[in-house]
Amino acid sequence: MLLGDERRLLCEYGRRASGTGLVIGTSGNLSVRVDDLVAVTPSGISLDRLEPGDCPIVDVEGRLVEGELQPSSETPMHLAVYTATGAGAIVHTHSTFATVIATTMTELPPIHYNALLLGGTVRVADYATYGTPELAANVREALKDRRAVLLANHGGVTFGDDLGAAFEATRLLEWLCEVYVRARSIGEPRVLTEEQLSAVVQRAFHPPTFPRRED
Ligand SMILES: [Zn+2]
Repeated sequence: MLLGDERRLLCEYGRRASGTGLVIGTSGNLSVRVDDLVAVTPSGISLDRLEPGDCPIVDVEGRLVEGELQPSSETPMHLAVYTATGAGAIVHTHSTFATVIATTMTELPPIHYNALLLGGTVRVADYATYGTPELAANVREALKDRRAVLLANHGGVTFGDDLGAAFEATRLLEWLCEVYVRARSIGEPRVLTEEQLSAVVQRAFHPPTFPRRED
């Protein structure tokens, strides 16, 4: 089986995405790229019931290479992200809080410094019908210098070097969106300034050191 390990990973993370509530039924899709081949979750099967053989392989041009089932209808979007970023894996979900932000706002402002892990402010890509080249182009545009994007009235997309990193980015995106929504429910969230964000980056490069006590 081509990309057997990658297809097994899709099943494992499909179950995790369902188990953590990020995905309900078929409303999400995952992919992993190796060179010019992409293993992707299929259309029409719940992610918590996937078997490795269910996951088709396509090439980066979108031609079916192996598999009986049709690739996810969002495959053109995945391929556009791979072409634009050189990512190793992509996760797309309709998770609740990401969708709430994507339905009401034009961007997710950085109110917590962990937003830097996704590149800072997360843009909301303009709306287009799912599965279309227009949506793929809008996502590619909004992803510049970011690891995450929200899709207007739809959901979110994250990518990483591998599926574990892409999945953690999706969990972080959902958490940041939830914090924003909850903060907004009791007041106007304070957005971190460029200066405050730069200071965090500096701190990350120069972490504090603790001298060892000599007894
Ligand atoms: Zn979708």
